[in-house]
Amino acid sequence: MSSRKTRAIVMRQTGGPEVLKIEEIDLPPPAAGEVQIRHAAVGLNFIDVYFRTGLYKAPSLPFVVGKEGAGTVTALGAGVTDFAVGDRVAYASSDGAYSVERNIETRHLVKVPEGISLETAAAMMLKGMTVEYLLNRTYKVGPETVLLFHAAAGGVGLIAGQWAKALGATVIGTAGSDDKVKLALQHGYDHVINYRDDNFVERVKEITGGKGVDVVYDSIGKDTFPHSLDCIRPRGMWVSFGNASGPVEAFSMGLLSQKGSLFATRPTLFAYIATPEELKACAESLFAVVQSNKVRINIPQTYPLADAGRAHADLEARKTSGTTVLIP
Ligand code: NDP
Repeated sequence: MSSRKTRAIVMRQTGGPEVLKIEEIDLPPPAAGEVQIRHAAVGLNFIDVYFRTGLYKAPSLPFVVGKEGAGTVTALGAGVTDFAVGDRVAYASSDGAYSVERNIETRHLVKVPEGISLETAAAMMLKGMTVEYLLNRTYKVGPETVLLFHAAAGGVGLIAGQWAKALGATVIGTAGSDDKVKLALQHGYDHVINYRDDNFVERVKEITGGKGVDVVYDSIGKDTFPHSLDCIRPRGMWVSFGNASGPVEAFSMGLLSQKGSLFATRPTLFAYIATPEELKACAESLFAVVQSNKVRINIPQTYPLADAGRAHADLEARKTSGTTVLIP
């Protein structure tokens, strides 16, 4: 098998959405331990924006953005025995997803079960596995839990609302428009606060009878800090897992003491699916909750892969809700 050409979104410098350009690139045969896949769909995630702007550093330039995709195996590298040509596969942790075809190490891959489309898999692997670890392993959510989840109508947010409800929790969300509030209320949230119009700290205090929540999941970062801490009951947990508005600035540990002996963590999916066993268990848990219909994956936006820049602009302008996929 010799090298041939494929198309991918290549970033040659950091910057605005305009740095994302479709190009022809070489596609060598898969190396040992890799397979070649043809994408059916590629997931759009906020982390792709962080790499594009330079908030997170790309390993090198030029760089093919994107960590999540789903497709069909078309060729095997040497030594690959656990995958076969024709397998339907998905992944959430390997740079280079914004492409028509690619090579990928098999350690990133899971097989997609019958009954879940490749488009759905591309939409949910990264966001859904994130929700799995946030609700089950960062803080153990159960029927007694009262939680606050920011950006409730976003990709991660709509999955989180449904999954937290299925675990029996009382689920409070925030969202940036009245339409998004309505959407979140249809996806498991008991209460949704429009945080552009209302003071979410006061509203959370009202909803919880002054007690505060057990845990806040905050992916907004700069704009919601330190206010999120004021929503938490004494000895509760602040989970800072994203920077949609910019990173949280450095703060003194004393702040956690002043706010009520709080726990704080800054987790990332990649540390929770680092071993093959963790990846398998996390993905299986996601597949099970989706196959049981407790969590529905809606894909309100699809864009051609070549329009990845426009998709980024819409995501950053808070125009999207739920999940988004790029179609090669
Ligand atoms: P979303 O679909 O949730 O989009 C981000 C949302 O954040 C927007 O729709 C918007 O909703 C809200 N937002 C608030 N302020 C801003 C702002 N200044 N600029 C842009 N958006 C803003 O994205 P994803 O589902 O892809 O990701 C959600 C968050 O979760 C991201 O911060 C991402 O980095 C994080 N994440 C972290 C992971 C981890 O393991 N640590 C893994 C996966 C995602 P609204 O208009 O309602 O305010």
